[in-house]
Amino acid sequence: MSNKSIGLSDALQDYILEHSSPEPDILRALRDETAGMEDRNMQIAPEQGQFMAILAKLMGVKRYLEIGTFTGYSALAVALALPPGGEVITLDLSDEYTRVARKYWEKAGVSNLINLHPGPALKTLQDGLGGNHDNTFDMAFIDADKENYLGYFTHCLRLVRPGGLILIDNVLWDGSVIDAKNIEESTQAIRVLNKHVVALAEVEVVMTPIGDGLTLVRKV
Ligand code: CA
Repeated sequence: MSNKSIGLSDALQDYILEHSSPEPDILRALRDETAGMEDRNMQIAPEQGQFMAILAKLMGVKRYLEIGTFTGYSALAVALALPPGGEVITLDLSDEYTRVARKYWEKAGVSNLINLHPGPALKTLQDGLGGNHDNTFDMAFIDADKENYLGYFTHCLRLVRPGGLILIDNVLWDGSVIDAKNIEESTQAIRVLNKHVVALAEVEVVMTPIGDGLTLVRKV
């Protein structure tokens, strides 16, 4: 669903990768290991990782929040782009996946920058990242269970600083957002969030076709 950008032929996907900076070896190794796993399609596309890393560098991101760690690709891509003293806080429920994540963060020498909070993300956001964390993150990335997307976004909006960025993954959901016959809970939740975000007054929004659809929300 999101290992390559939506609507691209394999040949164009290859062309894009050939004309982007090479993927660091450690990220490629992590992607290769994840490719053997059952939920491999939950991994972001390599060009998306690169895009996020460049954004982090351009914005001078020091604190990055992530909802949905999976096997750690996006956390690692961004961690490698952070300045000394930078911090990644990433939330995930799964032990199985985050074990792989930890292994590669260790190998890459950035595990000291990354704080993994195990458990249900909504609870962590409510209890562990309460009001004293408001406006303290430069960038956030939402890529977890779609049914809770609106809740995750609402927390991210308070946690990200003015001028900061919230990235929302899978906003096209393999094209199903425009398929009226698709009334799955996940699809409906994504439609609800997409509609909610663009109607907000205090943000600027651009939806892009990177990966499975990636929305950039700048908090004004
Ligand atoms: Ca995703």
